[in-house]
Amino acid sequence: MSFVSVVVNQQWTRAQSLDEVTRLLQQYVAIDTANPPGDTTKAADFLASILEREGIPVTRYESAPGKAILYARLKATVTPASGKAILLLHHMDVVPADRAQWKTDPFIPTIQGGDLWGRGSMDMKGQAVAQLVAFLMLKRQNVPRTRDVILMAEPDEEVGGTLGARWMIANHYAELDPEYVIDEGGFGSTDLFAPNKTVYGISVAEKKIVWLKLRAEGVAGHGSQPTDTNPNDRLVRALARLLAEPGSRNLTEPVARSLQASDQPSVIDIMKARVGAFAQNKFTNAIQKSTISVTWFRSGVGDPPKINVIPSIAEAGLDCRVLPGTTKDQWIAEIARRLGDPAIKIELINESDDPVVTSQDSPLYNNIAAAITRAHPGAIVTPMLIPYGTDSNAFRARGVKSYGIFPALLPADVVSSMHSDGEHISLASVREGAQLFFEALRDTLAVR
Ligand SMILES: [Zn+2]
Repeated sequence: MSFVSVVVNQQWTRAQSLDEVTRLLQQYVAIDTANPPGDTTKAADFLASILEREGIPVTRYESAPGKAILYARLKATVTPASGKAILLLHHMDVVPADRAQWKTDPFIPTIQGGDLWGRGSMDMKGQAVAQLVAFLMLKRQNVPRTRDVILMAEPDEEVGGTLGARWMIANHYAELDPEYVIDEGGFGSTDLFAPNKTVYGISVAEKKIVWLKLRAEGVAGHGSQPTDTNPNDRLVRALARLLAEPGSRNLTEPVARSLQASDQPSVIDIMKARVGAFAQNKFTNAIQKSTISVTWFRSGVGDPPKINVIPSIAEAGLDCRVLPGTTKDQWIAEIARRLGDPAIKIELINESDDPVVTSQDSPLYNNIAAAITRAHPGAIVTPMLIPYGTDSNAFRARGVKSYGIFPALLPADVVSSMHSDGEHISLASVREGAQLFFEALRDTLAVR
């Protein structure tokens, strides 16, 4: 392959693509796909109309009423193809928005100072537009392709993904069967990972979700006469013991290591070696440790609960995110040990599949990293672990090399605006994301 001539022939028109990115993101964010109810029919109509206008055939599925799935495929132009497809994956649904808390209407995209504000702008319609524009550019510029490229948009990710990516995997895997997936997860930032360092984290693994319900039982009675059988007291004391211990990664680190070849460092080790000292924030904390958030309490008699009645039951919800390598049983045993009260019942509400780590040693990873460092010389590109769950986990379990990356520079405040009442994204970063996706795809598709 002649790399230089490819670059020269396939120029990226910056001004034109910024206009296109802006228009597409405005139109996409304006389609209310809040989940629940998470109806993605209109979003799929929107994407289908764009693809069909460009002569790209679209296939649609519906996993349940209103749960539209869109699938488009650019065939390899070189025969025989050199490998299985690259799948560009995004979810069309967004989390709900409380209009009373927003300064702008969450579904009327508002542009201020080069940023677009609206629900889904960051998670993940911005990345979706970047993927879509890159996909269209491959077609428009007749980029030679040694393998197929699939664009898939799916519903239901924000409520667990059983009717989205997991439904496609269960029912239509033969149509997908990718070698690679590019999904949400990682991004670039000048301040989030390390102070004053431009770092792009490409997600190669994610933490395991373990949702637990704790239940303390006691004896009901009159609030005027305290007893030692008050379940609230029991639960509060146990939670105090649980939270007094700092999040432990000791349990998980050796096992995380064992997931890879035994002499290989863990993802966290690689990240630390590349990045140096991490910035101190909730994100870097969460990628280094197994974590526990107490997300709800339920107790009391009546609604509103009576203040003078001791209840017989007190419950709490724990959202645990566990480093790869720790099993559900190991984690529950750890929680029980820390609670220090065998009478407290621990019930498993939900768990994600045990995380699989994708190797960063692949042409697609290298081409994403190369595109990033061409645009930002001196930027650090690192594989990383992400603290939240994505659809990639379901593909990794099938042996797919899945990379969570939006190659856009996002300030910490934009990252933390995800799911918040001030969600926004810089339009220039979406445009650059489109360009870098295009370059990484073009260069990977040139590999025989
Ligand atoms: Zn998302």
